[in-house]
Amino acid sequence: MSLQGEDGATVELADGIEHQVAMVMDLNKCIGCQTCTVACKKLWTEGGGREYMYWNNVETKPGRGYPRDWEEKGGGFASAEQAGQEDVHGEREVGELPSEEDWGRPWEFNHGEIFYDGSDESLRPQGEPPEWGPNWDEDQGAGEYPNSYYFYLPRICNHCTHPSCAEACPRKALYKREEDGIVLVDQERCRGYRYCVEGCPYNKVHFNVLKKKSEKCIFCYPRKEAEGPDDEVRPPACASECPPQLRLVGFLDDEDGPIYKLVEEYGVALRLHPEFHTQPNVYYVPPFAPPQHTEDGETVDVDRIPRPYLEELFGEDVHDALDTIERHRDRVRRGEDSELMDLLTTQDLARQYRLEAFE
Ligand code: SF4
Ligand code: SF4
Repeated sequence: MSLQGEDGATVELADGIEHQVAMVMDLNKCIGCQTCTVACKKLWTEGGGREYMYWNNVETKPGRGYPRDWEEKGGGFASAEQAGQEDVHGEREVGELPSEEDWGRPWEFNHGEIFYDGSDESLRPQGEPPEWGPNWDEDQGAGEYPNSYYFYLPRICNHCTHPSCAEACPRKALYKREEDGIVLVDQERCRGYRYCVEGCPYNKVHFNVLKKKSEKCIFCYPRKEAEGPDDEVRPPACASECPPQLRLVGFLDDEDGPIYKLVEEYGVALRLHPEFHTQPNVYYVPPFAPPQHTEDGETVDVDRIPRPYLEELFGEDVHDALDTIERHRDRVRRGEDSELMDLLTTQDLARQYRLEAFE
């Protein structure tokens, strides 16, 4: 279903969905502190077969990510052209199940020996040495001295408009909530086949080996529904705990909200890997970096983060997005007003989080 805004922009909602929750993350503000990861882990995935799960993870780009090489494991949908259809996307593509090693096994540390009996001198993982884990390639990045570069990419489930995880499930256990488009796994219906895990090209469905069920990010819907002790509507924990407050949360179809403006009006917030054709509802403001410089410190007019790499991640619209932000930065430097820069730098929580727009 398509909704046309007053400005002529079209928002596409999944059939039968009244509104669609969405999030924008400004990658220029992420410091890689993992507070979001910890906030999510403490709230939802501490134990009971969830030890290895990070519904929110933050990885360093360029890098292999979490699970390892997730971008190469397939899933999602073929493009319409490939399938010879006029539709937005083509046939579903079968992906690959990440191995336990790709996720990285949780490991124990010698806390007892260090903190209690003093029999060891340094803290280290116990058992077989790990070979991969979340955040394994932190800060490695790419490029040559003195122009090496990296940035952080926080990731949650995208609560896609066209979720290939749901389409892959023969039991129809995954579904989009009618009222807000959040994608959930019906634990009663799930039989643990893991087709959803291979179907998601973002590898954002996890399998609980103890419960033998699939589990995933729930966009903190109980917080959205004010189920806490103070009856307040709250954004997802990953957003509210983020020190630089880089996430904006609301509805894609809320024309007065910041997400609609950044995505539809200004076109500066983009989907990650749009070529997977699941139509994610988490959007990213792409990262800037200082220009390259010589070993003597002379500035060279060459992008430090190569545009082709950003295009690989965010599609060809990344060029217009970066140019638009640059134009608005210039306006502010000249002392002119810019609604876009106001939105990207707001410290007003009521503007940043608009989850009550359709209450
Ligand atoms: S990101 Fe993956 S798990 Fe989340 S809705 Fe999209 S396809 Fe499903
Ligand atoms: S809490 Fe915010 S700044 Fe820290 S890693 Fe997460 S998204 Fe980045």
